[in-house]
Amino acid sequence: IIKKAFMEGKMLRPGQELSPTETEEIGLLYETVINFVEEEKKEEELDNELVDYWNKVYEEQKDSLKTRPPVVTVMGHVDHGKTTLLDNIRNTKVAEGEEGGITQSIGAYQLEYNDKKITFIDTPGHEAFTEMRARGAQATDIVVLIIAADDGVMPQTIEAYNHAKDAKVPVIVAINKIDKPNANVELTKQQMVAKLNLIPEDWGGDTITVPISAISKEGIDELLEMISLVSEMEEIKCKPNGQARAVIIESKLDKFLGPVATVIVKDGILKTGDYFIAGSTYGKVRRMIDDQGRTIKKALPSTPVQVLGFNEVADTHSILYVTNSLNQAREISGKKKEKEDLANQNINKKHVKLEDFMKMMEGNQKKVLNIILKAGTFGEIEALKNSINKLQNPDIDIDIVHAGIGTVTTSDIMLASASDAVVMGFRVKVDNKAKKDAEKEGIQIKRYDIIFQLIDELKKALQGMLELEE
Ligand code: GDP
Repeated sequence: IIKKAFMEGKMLRPGQELSPTETEEIGLLYETVINFVEEEKKEEELDNELVDYWNKVYEEQKDSLKTRPPVVTVMGHVDHGKTTLLDNIRNTKVAEGEEGGITQSIGAYQLEYNDKKITFIDTPGHEAFTEMRARGAQATDIVVLIIAADDGVMPQTIEAYNHAKDAKVPVIVAINKIDKPNANVELTKQQMVAKLNLIPEDWGGDTITVPISAISKEGIDELLEMISLVSEMEEIKCKPNGQARAVIIESKLDKFLGPVATVIVKDGILKTGDYFIAGSTYGKVRRMIDDQGRTIKKALPSTPVQVLGFNEVADTHSILYVTNSLNQAREISGKKKEKEDLANQNINKKHVKLEDFMKMMEGNQKKVLNIILKAGTFGEIEALKNSINKLQNPDIDIDIVHAGIGTVTTSDIMLASASDAVVMGFRVKVDNKAKKDAEKEGIQIKRYDIIFQLIDELKKALQGMLELEE
């Protein structure tokens, strides 16, 4: 595939992830129709039904929509001060307003500044943008792009900005670390212009730019004020009443509580006792815990809250929709599950296993077995290659797609998945991530310590005589 794509002027690397469109393009090089894209579309249909439903609700209830507090994400290059800023805002502002202060972190928090609420997401990632947008909702209303004044615009600054721009989310720039002696605010602004095409307001542009120090807290009040201002200008709206929908920003299996997720309510009021679907799972809101560890019975729009009562761990970044009844929740999630299982089966079926190699190749004139070989030393690789080559015969081609030294890693699995190969390890370990990925991708990993055994199993596989050992 890599060679063929290269001839067509497209550069690919082993292990590279492809978009559905790219997959389709490559499929066309082989005159193969990839149904993958279709499958994915089908999967999204159910979500789309719900999205359509909500769009209609918005259309019909235009006049009764109300503003809600903004949900803010801080993004920027590593070490530019995201965590420090979020922690310090939380510690000063939330603790100021509430007795007792924070008891636990649920991944997002809400504060009040000049009588206006603002919600901050604690642990943002770029995926949150792309995935949630694909699912028809946006978690974030405003992005604070943080740039350290002693380091300037860096690659992840640009990446973060591009995500925000793609998602059409307004951006406020916070130039951080101005307390440092080598901070250079002017130079940082020049780089904003040159590298991001963002012109600060005080330079005649329209990008709100606030110099801050996350450590000394200088400028933080101003930043919060700017957030309030932008949110007013943006008129962030919601459906204030009725059944809720919410975005899931974090999800995990808690040892004591079972599957839990932190959600931010986008519309309606989420209540204890509500039934819901979320991605391919469903549940009933058994309990809700707010960002200060208190149990609450109702969560209004833009409130972050931890929800207990999921049937299974939900996909992060999926959308939670309240349904009329448990039956409705089960029914919708059941339909989704069926589709997912089907898609997974198709994935696993695709890859070759030594035991059924001959069966899979039945009817093919030329049978090709692809192998990825990992061993402890060069000497071992050479010895194995020689022995394996002796097994070649006119009907069967054994292709060693890749031979390398050392532990079997994820990149071997990805290559195996791309080339439909079996991974054979000789006197090497398999790392844990590779094991998990192999399971997910349906890739077989075989391990041997004795050459004879490896060759013997290969021989049997080629004769269609190897029994499945699992
Ligand atoms: P993140 O990777 O963006 O989350 O960055 P962190 O918040 O972990 O900050 C990286 C380092 O920069 C830490 O050592 C912080 O103490 C330091 N730092 C963050 N903000 C400031 C600031 O305003 N001034 C100074 N002097 N150091 C800061």
